[in-house]
Amino acid sequence: MSKYIFITGGVLSSLGKGVTSASIGSILESMGYKITLQKLDPYLNVDAGTMNPYQHGEVYVTEDGAETDLDLGHYERFTESVMKRENNVTAGRVYFNVISEERRGGYLGATVQVIPHITDEIKRLIKKASEGCDISIVEIGGTVGDIEGLPFLEAVRQLSLEVGDDNALFIHLTYVPYIKTAGELKTKPTQHSVKELREIGIQPDIIICRAEMDIPEPIKKKIALFCSVDKEAVISAPDMDYIYKIPIKLKEEGIHNIISAKLSIPCKEADVSKWKKVINILESAKEKTRIGVVGKYVELKDAYKSIEEALIHGGIANNLKVEIKWIDAGNYSIEDLKELNGILIPGGFGERGVTGKIDAITYARENNIPIFGICLGMQLMAIEFARNVLGMKEADSTEFNPETPYPVIDLMEDQRRVESKGGTMRLGSYPCVIKKETKVYEIYKEEMIRERHRHRYEFNNRFRDDFEKAGMVFSGLSPDGKLVEIMELKNHRWYIGCQFHPEFKSKPFKPHSLFVSFIKTSHTEG
Ligand code: GLN
Repeated sequence: MSKYIFITGGVLSSLGKGVTSASIGSILESMGYKITLQKLDPYLNVDAGTMNPYQHGEVYVTEDGAETDLDLGHYERFTESVMKRENNVTAGRVYFNVISEERRGGYLGATVQVIPHITDEIKRLIKKASEGCDISIVEIGGTVGDIEGLPFLEAVRQLSLEVGDDNALFIHLTYVPYIKTAGELKTKPTQHSVKELREIGIQPDIIICRAEMDIPEPIKKKIALFCSVDKEAVISAPDMDYIYKIPIKLKEEGIHNIISAKLSIPCKEADVSKWKKVINILESAKEKTRIGVVGKYVELKDAYKSIEEALIHGGIANNLKVEIKWIDAGNYSIEDLKELNGILIPGGFGERGVTGKIDAITYARENNIPIFGICLGMQLMAIEFARNVLGMKEADSTEFNPETPYPVIDLMEDQRRVESKGGTMRLGSYPCVIKKETKVYEIYKEEMIRERHRHRYEFNNRFRDDFEKAGMVFSGLSPDGKLVEIMELKNHRWYIGCQFHPEFKSKPFKPHSLFVSFIKTSHTEG
């Protein structure tokens, strides 16, 4: 049976609970434990697939094709664990399962209620995701005190009783504000939020205090006293310039010792040296390269979290700092592009911002600037090429113009039959065959790769010949040859578009080769 670490959040959101959970996972892995992580989200969407990135940040896609919360991206990047559909459970999924079971007649006359039916289903899903692991880290989304979070908190409270003291541990992440006028760090919000947890029947074992600065001993003592935890179990987690410093800091604070003691596991040494190496590269890199991401959700950087991370990883591999310029596709001038060493066009949905992205592609193609198109980015590269190189002025995707005479991007037969939007795109990992003697073959050095997808539209095969005659190379295809997965342009420094999302598979210690190559070329004088 797995042991459990339940992580709750207090005071306010956006404290970095996901990265903290991932960092704890990384520390435990370094001690030799097999871990997994799971995110419980209190909203009623069945999955994150239908949610606007403006509100919720990026939708992260797993190998098995689940559309999940972006915290699962942190989990995969920070640890060796492989995230699956079951690693993200929403209230919507729980209610969907319970109500479907009720309709099947599965409850045989019982009145179906939040307690025990919803809470039992939550516990079942937690146990299922933890199978085969030594320690399962379960992060509960939202903030303690939210109405929606209550069934989850009740379920983990019950589960902790079921598995017993040595097998469950509660960590509460709170905020300790610094009040400038008083010149003081204030513990009251933390006290209140722990009080609220206790009212639900949960006593935290460890309190991680997020703050602008390190938490000094007297404040730790105060929190320990008022919240009934050991002083050593009050952990200081100040703001960091790099998230990769968090595992290092948590180890310095001795979190691994407290977890080991509480879960009655041998207290092995935690090794964070790999994080130190990464930080060393980032802090000592003398040169930098400037990459522009031309997108429509740029005000909220979380909307492109995995892309941001993958670009940084590409920099680490090349001993470079990557300066990312977030460019609003609907509001920039070509002048803004002139300071860039490379341009990335990310994925997206809907027509807004499309013209601006296409203009950026034209600029990069004509001026031999490295350009990387991902998913919608690749589709727009195809549209741009058709319009400006092949002379098909009205070329478009049928997503934006169903009547276009040149539908270079279109729906395949199976997608035409789709009626509901949730979970029906081409999702998850698919194989792709790489053509030899192409730039992507040089990059991947493999004939068969697998990458993750999230899209409905595809390159329209009717136009393949026209494109090829004009110098486009379809360097990655599905094994049956029917789907274009990668295209690249001959006689250009770096012009690659891929229908999949390579950013989801990049890790600080295993940077994605496409990003490594893109950053490398961007940094070399053209
Ligand atoms: N909107 C496009 C499609 O559905 C691209 C999606 C994406 O970029 N993820 O095919």
